[in-house]
Amino acid sequence: MKTNKKGIHHITAISGDAQRNAEFYVKKLGMRLVKKSVNQDDPGTYHLFYGNANGSPGSGLTFFPWQMAIQGKPGLGEAVTVALAVPSGSIDYWAEHFGEEGIDFDGPYDRFGQQAIGFKDPDLMGLELVFDEQVDSLPGWEKGSVPAEYGIRGFRGTTLLLSEHESTAQVLTNLFGFEETAREENRWHYTTDAPIGGSVIIEEGEHKPSSNGRGIVHHVAFRASDDDELKELRQKIIDMGLHPSDVIDRHWFHSVYFRSPGGVLFEIATDGPGYDVDEEPDKLGQKLILPPWLESKREKIEKRLPEIRV
Ligand code: ZN
Repeated sequence: MKTNKKGIHHITAISGDAQRNAEFYVKKLGMRLVKKSVNQDDPGTYHLFYGNANGSPGSGLTFFPWQMAIQGKPGLGEAVTVALAVPSGSIDYWAEHFGEEGIDFDGPYDRFGQQAIGFKDPDLMGLELVFDEQVDSLPGWEKGSVPAEYGIRGFRGTTLLLSEHESTAQVLTNLFGFEETAREENRWHYTTDAPIGGSVIIEEGEHKPSSNGRGIVHHVAFRASDDDELKELRQKIIDMGLHPSDVIDRHWFHSVYFRSPGGVLFEIATDGPGYDVDEEPDKLGQKLILPPWLESKREKIEKRLPEIRV
């Protein structure tokens, strides 16, 4: 089997109010709303997908907005920071933009050799912008609220807070082709050469009180090229003594879920069919899309969902 080195496919988190979430990611961060759908396990609530210009794998930051969700507190066994890659020369733009938008940030600071700034979304989810020369040549979203030359290109990666790094590192290296490329005290950096989504930091931490709720990452998905590779990776998970789900049809990709040894819920998702399987590429995210098996319930579902304007 060829080694998978493609990195992160998408990251999914829980948010509070859907409108507030969409305003932040679309209007303030300039991401593209590439899919407006429902939570397939709870179709009375949205599933919102933000991405880069094409909504390509490696850029999908997705949310389950629950209006009534209590504030979560991040803890061990979770992805605590999501790092988004922006062009290397864009730091002055973002510092000024955040100033105008009233978004507080830390930094710039060094994130394993790259400059980054840290901030929170309205549900206090930890975010970073990483000024990343690897994405300088990737296209920006021309119709976004941030000029294309400075816009978010996709993930740089994520930071997992774990009680120990070794067992989850084995999953990253054996299954997904990451390599340990640096270490600073209690933080290990794993990378692939994928231009987006190729960085996972594992930070070892102490147990502290935590709770699920808004602002908490639900799962981190890694890329598989196709269904054959998804099945091969599923078998490898079993061979490692872990317990994958069956293959699940998520309509825009096919998925397998498993709990990583450190406690983070991981998913493997295929690159295809992709977000443009049911919408024109230039019209992504404009209307509510339901997977075919929920289409017969559209009227009932639409009545329950609050309107979103961005
Ligand atoms: Zn997912």
